[in-house]
Amino acid sequence: MIQRFDVVIVGGGMVGSALALALARADLRVALLEAAEPPAFDSAQPHDIRVSAITRASQRVFERLDAWRGMRTRRISPYQAMEVWDAAGSGVIRFHAEEIGEPDLGHIIENRVIQLALLDGVRRLPAITLFCPAALAGLDVDDRAARVRLDDGRVLEAPLAVGADGARSRLRELAGIAVEIHSYHQQAVTCTVATELPHLATAWQRFLPAGPLAFLPLSDGQCSIVWSTGEAHAEEIMALDDAAFREVLGEAFAHRLGTIIDSGSRGAFPLRGSQAGVYVRPRVALVGDAAHTIHPLAGQGVNLGLMDAATLADVLLGAGGRDLGDLRVLRRYERARRGEDIIMMRAMEGFRALFGNPLPPVQWLRNTGLDVVDRIGPLKRGLIRRAMGLAGELPSLARA
Ligand SMILES: Cc1cc2nc3c(=O)[nH]c(=O)nc-3n(C[C@H](O)[C@H](O)[C@H](O)COP(=O)(O)OP(=O)(O)OC[C@H]3O[C@@H](n4cnc5c(N)ncnc54)[C@H](O)[C@@H]3O)c2cc1C
Repeated sequence: MIQRFDVVIVGGGMVGSALALALARADLRVALLEAAEPPAFDSAQPHDIRVSAITRASQRVFERLDAWRGMRTRRISPYQAMEVWDAAGSGVIRFHAEEIGEPDLGHIIENRVIQLALLDGVRRLPAITLFCPAALAGLDVDDRAARVRLDDGRVLEAPLAVGADGARSRLRELAGIAVEIHSYHQQAVTCTVATELPHLATAWQRFLPAGPLAFLPLSDGQCSIVWSTGEAHAEEIMALDDAAFREVLGEAFAHRLGTIIDSGSRGAFPLRGSQAGVYVRPRVALVGDAAHTIHPLAGQGVNLGLMDAATLADVLLGAGGRDLGDLRVLRRYERARRGEDIIMMRAMEGFRALFGNPLPPVQWLRNTGLDVVDRIGPLKRGLIRRAMGLAGELPSLARA
């Protein structure tokens, strides 16, 4: 039996479920496929090791989709300041929300909390049919429709199929869209830690020669760390016992928050940059990690994905009765997003190259650069606004 919809979205992660909500608010009939139900949340549980720094622009999207409340009632951690410094010198830059008259710079939120709050909304809206657990097994596209086959044999048909199924997108593969993948030869080691000194609601980042080490402040006083480093070093770190791990972590962080007094379980994630050759094909569009992945050093990956979702929603809702799978409609989305995503990716590559370079002139340049940016008000405020996702053309869900 074939079930018909206006849009079929493959992947009910943070980006796919946000897109489903954005489209259903305008009464489009949406099918959302998700392979795995996230485990239920209980505030007595320790923080998950997968967290995201959520920008103001993304917060606005969640507010408009009525999902922000569901995150706040579970667990979110606002941060008011950011401090970035270079291990090889004295350069330092500090941002504070007060400098631009904002209450905070953003929030650290567990990925599972984001996904659960969005899925609450998905279940509330009758315009969305959630297929979960259900995985994509096949795709067939012709002039009239895209047909998505589930692993249990059911078939969903719509003018448009969207791939929101992450970095290893099966939909992208079935649609024959090539992807350029670039390994950073690094892994990110993540973990929740307790520190001797309070984190002061500050997101800390120290640039080490092998990669950045971030301490992200959590509402219970602990920090979520993201330590990006060479593959062999990451494996060494993962193999350490807890006491030895806390020791090397404290040293790598120059004991900025005193000694590390406790640490939870650790995870390691290989880091890759990727860009799909195109974001759209007739009757197919890609959003989020299915379209691009970037280095987590500036915490922008899912924020970019949410802007993809909000932009695609603007384009589809503004299509004025035209076929939603028409390439001319979809290209508006690609034009609006691909350039933005590539700029962010190149900026991250530039940062990484600059901070990974041991040559003394480069060290001098970056230390001086950090200090200069720290002192020039307008430049600094511009950077803060960019980091909060407020620079450039914003989709309607992300506007003030
Ligand atoms: C260490 C680390 C730290 C990070 N920190 C940040 C940060 O601070 N801020 C930030 O913005 N970004 C951060 N990111 C990036 C961020 O995690 C990703 O950009 C984000 O998870 C992408 O969301 P997504 O919904 O596009 O994809 P995913 O989160 O990968 O979700 C894809 C969904 O699709 C489902 N799925 C997959 N295949 C199928 C299928 N065949 N059928 C049905 N369903 C399927 C999956 O179950 C999943 O739910 C970080 C990444 C890493 C590795």
